[in-house]
Amino acid sequence: MGEFKGFLKYDRKKQSEEDLESRIENYDAFQHRFCNDDASEQGARCMDCGTPFCQTGTGVGKETVGCPIGNYIPEWNDLVSKGQFKEAFERLAETNNFPEFTGAVCPAPCESSCVLSINSDPVAIKGIERTIIDEAYKEDWVKPRTPNHRLGTRIAIIGSGPAGLTAADEMNAWGHKVDVYERDMKPGGLLRYGIPNMKLDKEVVERRVSLMEDAGVRFHCGINAGVDLTYEALDEKYDAVIVATGARKQRDLKLEGRQSRDIQFAMDYLTEQIKYQFDEIDAPSISAKDKQVVVIGGGDTGADCVAMALREDCKSVFQFNKYDRLPDAVKGNPFWPLEKKEFKLDYAHAEYEKKFGVEPRTYGVQTMGYDVDFLGDLKGLNTQVLGEESLNGLSVEDQERYFKADLVLLSIGFEGVESELPKAFGLQMDNNKIAAAEDDYRTSRQKVFAAGDSRRGQSLVVWAIKEGRGVAKAAHKFAVQNKMFYKSS
Ligand SMILES: Cc1cc2nc3c(=O)[nH]c(=O)nc-3n(C[C@H](O)[C@H](O)[C@H](O)COP(=O)(O)OP(=O)(O)OC[C@H]3O[C@@H](n4cnc5c(N)ncnc54)[C@H](O)[C@@H]3O)c2cc1C
Ligand code: SF4
Repeated sequence: MGEFKGFLKYDRKKQSEEDLESRIENYDAFQHRFCNDDASEQGARCMDCGTPFCQTGTGVGKETVGCPIGNYIPEWNDLVSKGQFKEAFERLAETNNFPEFTGAVCPAPCESSCVLSINSDPVAIKGIERTIIDEAYKEDWVKPRTPNHRLGTRIAIIGSGPAGLTAADEMNAWGHKVDVYERDMKPGGLLRYGIPNMKLDKEVVERRVSLMEDAGVRFHCGINAGVDLTYEALDEKYDAVIVATGARKQRDLKLEGRQSRDIQFAMDYLTEQIKYQFDEIDAPSISAKDKQVVVIGGGDTGADCVAMALREDCKSVFQFNKYDRLPDAVKGNPFWPLEKKEFKLDYAHAEYEKKFGVEPRTYGVQTMGYDVDFLGDLKGLNTQVLGEESLNGLSVEDQERYFKADLVLLSIGFEGVESELPKAFGLQMDNNKIAAAEDDYRTSRQKVFAAGDSRRGQSLVVWAIKEGRGVAKAAHKFAVQNKMFYKSS
């Protein structure tokens, strides 16, 4: 246990951040780690409750209870509270290949499930995790996971997002020779080309990729498997193939006028902006500069668009949310161990409010039509007010509202997997995802495994890591057994 009655003695602390006004002048990551003393104090708040819901990790419908990768949270809380950061890092590294990613971007279902959160503030688990790994890098404790010997097996991994990277890290460490094939020009998947730099510094991704290269993993970028690389070529060369290509097919809102160049997918906007920031393209084709922007979709990707548009110096942003505003925050969590249903200001909303004096979200709004002129330029959006709260007291005429807009960013989720690779590889699909069992990750094709968003649909980085670890075990077993069989026959 961290400290007897520590949770009564110390309050939950937030990690410090760059101030709201100055950070929108650049694209730098704005959140800091705890200093060691603060992390120790926060670790001391852990009650070691005996039933650590925080580390259980199960899916309940679309929600998650506890940490999906089963991080040994109470154990490292205790170690950190005693200042034993090296031991805490070693324990953390047993379950999490990339704490630097989750420590920066995980929505921390562990904290919602923390027993303390029933009637108080949860332990700052994510901030402690981030501090452990940052300290580990600072002290040079993070080393390439180079295997002691090679097994003589070869594994191909398609896709280098967190699922593919995790599978590569595990399988290489166990002695397989691992080749990762990636369509983009650099590895990382959505860690690099989706999540903005403000939330996850791309140097953090590069640092990990380069450790993996030092350990022997080979990355082949700019290769579109299924087009540049056939299944037959992979089958000939490799003992197992892991498909971790994500679920990138974006949901569209096909209303009249959709063909306007001023209506774009959120992901295309974010990816281009990130490429532009890192000099991978000369100029972005989608820009929010000096524009009245409407982001359709109230989720996290939409919030990332708000943050990006602010940094581009947009004129204004409305972020449409179909649902009513959630109630204001209260202490304690009546939904425990699930996430609390309360009003939150995401980082982007707080930044916007600071600059413009209002938060950018509008609630209970349904888009009914795009107003596009004969030249194809967007003028605005016709909307209808929905939801009990939002409709409250409105006359029939007031239920329709027009929003001026020069740019619309569609952020209404993802339909599933792009179909080219599954078609080319002859893989069976299940509801827009690659069909593969949850226990052994095997697809309809002998030798081919699937994991991450391509198997479970758009999800979270922490679930991708969980899937990467799971698929690595399954492919390892398969490849080793096959090798033994062929050697002895
Ligand atoms: C804008 C945005 C922000 C997000 N923010 C967060 C967040 O803050 N926290 C969080 O936990 N989750 C977040 N997510 C979700 C998270 O990023 C994903 O769940 C996670 O990245 C999935 O990992 P993956 O490895 O399965 O797929 P991906 O990260 O999508 O990686 C798939 C990789 O496969 C490659 N690929 C695809 N087809 C081929 C092919 N034919 N040949 C070769 N390579 C191919 C792609 O180029 C890509 O690199 C966010 C998602 C988006 C879109
Ligand atoms: S990975 Fe996410 S859920 Fe797991 S301990 Fe870290 S912040 Fe919590």
